[in-house]
Amino acid sequence: EDKEWSFMVRVRAPAGRLTAAQYLALDTLAETHADGTLRLTSRQGVQFHGVLRENLKGTIAGINATLLTTMAACGDVVRNVTTSPAPRRDAMHARLEAEAFSLSAALLPRTRAHHQIFLDEEAGAAPEEEPLYGPTYLPRKFKISLAHPDDNTPDVLANDCGFLAVTEGERLTGWILLVGGGMGMTHNKPATYPRLASPIALIGPDEVLKAAQAVVRLSRDHGDRSDRKHARLKYVVQEKGVAWVKARLEADLGRALADPPPLPALTVPELLGWHEQGDGKWWLGLPIPAGRIAGTLRAALREVVERFAPSPIATPQQDLILSDIAEADRAPVEAILRAHGVVFAEQLSPLARWSLACVALPTCGQSLAEGERVHAPILADVQQALARHGLLGERISLRLTGCPNGCARPYSGDIGIVGRTPGFYTVFVGGDFEGTRLSFQLADKVAQEAVGNVLDPVLAAYAAGRQGSEGLGDFCTRIGAERTRSLLHPEAVKAA
Ligand code: SF4
Repeated sequence: EDKEWSFMVRVRAPAGRLTAAQYLALDTLAETHADGTLRLTSRQGVQFHGVLRENLKGTIAGINATLLTTMAACGDVVRNVTTSPAPRRDAMHARLEAEAFSLSAALLPRTRAHHQIFLDEEAGAAPEEEPLYGPTYLPRKFKISLAHPDDNTPDVLANDCGFLAVTEGERLTGWILLVGGGMGMTHNKPATYPRLASPIALIGPDEVLKAAQAVVRLSRDHGDRSDRKHARLKYVVQEKGVAWVKARLEADLGRALADPPPLPALTVPELLGWHEQGDGKWWLGLPIPAGRIAGTLRAALREVVERFAPSPIATPQQDLILSDIAEADRAPVEAILRAHGVVFAEQLSPLARWSLACVALPTCGQSLAEGERVHAPILADVQQALARHGLLGERISLRLTGCPNGCARPYSGDIGIVGRTPGFYTVFVGGDFEGTRLSFQLADKVAQEAVGNVLDPVLAAYAAGRQGSEGLGDFCTRIGAERTRSLLHPEAVKAA
């Protein structure tokens, strides 16, 4: 007997940018071909869940008709290219957006197989060639991001290849090329680990594509193809060293590369709420819990996009920005959203506002424990613990994933909660809010209901001993992993 197959379909949306027409087309497909929801991802993409087999081709064709694609949104290729989602109308943001679009297009595989399988294109006579990927593609997925130090919302250091803008005043003078970041690891396999990308070189303002291609070739030629859990470029960088990586890239590009300057401080700004764009128009950033657009929220967004045609932007924080709203439309847009009970950022605690959750069960085949579906209860427990210590108003980030692959970047940020076995999690602390430092393990095999209690004594110590405006992760790192772990209540650890 044949099974009732259902699929997840992921849309590639460079920099998360959509037009109003694209958003409405995706919204319609969610209704007609999927489970009635849209899911914004931590990489500025959009997912459809519960697409039945008979709807698969129609969904992919429908997405293609909107001038978006599902091609290379998964697989051992360059994935969706991310950058700052802020629609600030200045030269720097225009450049980040343009580079993301051009990388996304230039690094797509050349194969027509996707079009032949899903879009009824006739097979060509000539053999296909992949000048960049070669016949065997990459050893593993490959993530690229671009950022400006004033906005590290995309967590540029968590990517295989990152570009951090270097500016003099308003002028872009170059990019710091970052190589070898990635979040995934496997429990109990010390040879696997999350890693932040290393600064490798300073490149010129117009060298992004060339450098990205060279880094892709480095991964293609040196990634470990014998073990998928050891195949990401980060292991090459860690094991061979930064000097080796730089020398390989120099040999590939045929010229010497300048050493990178010290990494500047990175910041993660508030993008939710109303902001003037710099061109007289406004954007509204809306928190989307766990990135799930469903029910009345979906209806409200559809009405706003139909009536006012803002350009939606999916953020790396799983939120949605509605951009290009005229001053006169602000009040009616807000009225529609409020009439539907849509939650605005100021109604959320900072923890809720700065939380991420991966999809996990029932959609993701990798999941070891729940993600999105326990986001709300875990958040409520941690908020209670924060409230007990007068910390509910503090800006603290929380990232929850159903497995150690780390799609919601749990190893950077203040608190990471990573699925271990059904109902149990590993808890991490000590990363920083800006995404420049990895966290350490606080407790393992913590029951879902015990997460708030396990964190409680750490939050108590933070409330009592923080220096100035020190963040939670910064505090834990300053006192050290051992001392932080020694704060745990033995019963909480035992219960865990
Ligand atoms: Fe990613 Fe793992 Fe979450 Fe699946 S369960 S979405 S692989 S982190």
